[in-house]
Amino acid sequence: MSEFKMLINGQLVDAISGKTMDVVNPANGKFVASVPCAGEEDVDLAVKAAQKAFPAWRKTYVADRVNLVLKLAAKMREHAEELAVLETLHYGGPISKTRVFDANGGPGNLEFVAGLARGLTGHTISANPNARIMTFCEPMGVVGLITPWNFPMCTATSKLGPALVTGNCVVLKPASCAPLTILKIGEYAKEVGFPDGVINIVTGPGSTVGEAIVKHPGVAKINFTGDSAVGKRIMQLASEHVKPVASELGGKNAFVVMNDAPFDGAIEAGVYAAFFNSGQNCGSPSRFYVQEEIYDKYLEKFIEKAKAITVGDTMDPKTMMGPLAYPACRDNAEKAVAKAIADGCVLRLGGERPNTPETKDGAYVMPTVLEATDNSLDIMQEEIFAPVVAFYKFKEDREAIDLVNESRYGLCASVWTTDYRKGMKITDEFDCGTSWINQHLEIVPETPWGGRKESGWTKENSMLVFNEYTWQKHVWMCMDDEPHTFWENFLKD
Ligand code: NDP
Repeated sequence: MSEFKMLINGQLVDAISGKTMDVVNPANGKFVASVPCAGEEDVDLAVKAAQKAFPAWRKTYVADRVNLVLKLAAKMREHAEELAVLETLHYGGPISKTRVFDANGGPGNLEFVAGLARGLTGHTISANPNARIMTFCEPMGVVGLITPWNFPMCTATSKLGPALVTGNCVVLKPASCAPLTILKIGEYAKEVGFPDGVINIVTGPGSTVGEAIVKHPGVAKINFTGDSAVGKRIMQLASEHVKPVASELGGKNAFVVMNDAPFDGAIEAGVYAAFFNSGQNCGSPSRFYVQEEIYDKYLEKFIEKAKAITVGDTMDPKTMMGPLAYPACRDNAEKAVAKAIADGCVLRLGGERPNTPETKDGAYVMPTVLEATDNSLDIMQEEIFAPVVAFYKFKEDREAIDLVNESRYGLCASVWTTDYRKGMKITDEFDCGTSWINQHLEIVPETPWGGRKESGWTKENSMLVFNEYTWQKHVWMCMDDEPHTFWENFLKD
């Protein structure tokens, strides 16, 4: 029996097999809690419960669905401190961050779509004066939501909210290392009175539970955020049923500093965007292209600022950076740094573990800065998802655009310049989903988020998110007194 339960068909339950998985604090390697380790049979129950709930849920008034979603958000706000602490304990984000960012962002995502959903409309089309032609947004049915660990609560609510308000029922699977706040959301959903089966939350490995959701014929759509390789695997599996997959995948995001950049702002923002949440942000920049004239000055100042980041006990409100989410993430980051050095890059900062009494048993990596010798090296091309960045010097403006676009990813990039016209022209040419001028990592519910190329192609947030959870149905109503067919037109001569 585990202390945290899954939510299936309105019941808080263990896995049918009784199996559990341990959640471990990455800051110190200590056990936090055990959670159910589900299997295919639990997924089947969850999908069937959602299928059963769907016909009634889709017919409820939007205002009623919205009110329940708002009650869930209010419950999360009531338990903000508990959620912030759990968020810190299961994935290692420092409490200073989880109290402000996640405890607000989680319910904030629900509140945002709740407001918008009541204004959702279809279209009318005036193709034929003798007809009334219209489109409707219809819910898709049961949607499978598969979410990562880097912002466990925020990514879950950014999918849960739009799915529910548009009339879908959901089966949600959080990341195995960080499921606690999502299981709490399940408890709150039951308390605030969601009908049985509308929200189902299952925990267990992606390779079994995740794949069972993707393959289940009762699931109409998958909405996935995670690694690009996993995204490709999910798309392959989903293609068996021609099942749509919304995908928010990896990135290798660029931060471009022109000679005329607003220098201090570019330093502050660069260090923040690179190292906030230990660099485990889909939008974090990990390749810095700095123009020749200011390259040395920018790099020196960046290193000075990065040295001031406090790394340590995640429950200390003064800590700015915690560990990575689990030891394998740290090991990957260390391997990537070693490979970069072997490839001829120069290590300018970090590369080691902090190794203080509070961090020695955790999955920590210090802020790390390298100088790269070539844009084709792994350090400039492969996502590391850690506080590791590489710098590269360029000469001409045009070169910066080519360097940014030489990537299999296309999530986001920023350019730093006091010449806004030049900045706009450069961002026009970035082949990615989001481009900032003199900003990086500003991601808010109002703005669409999502990439291109191997970063995926769908949109989270903004009004566009509703496209991911609705089918557009077109209805044509003939207004003729005597309905006719086209034969009459073809054959009239
Ligand atoms: P993963 O892809 O490893 O895991 C994401 C989710 O997928 C988890 O719930 C995981 O379960 C599940 N999963 C794993 N394998 C499968 C499978 N074969 N079938 C179905 N589900 C599966 O990503 P991480 O959790 O490591 O998150 C980091 C990644 O997410 C980075 O690449 C990052 O760039 C990306 N990301 C992208 C964002 C964007 O907006 N583009 C936003 C945030 C993150 P389990 O935990 O059990 O393995």
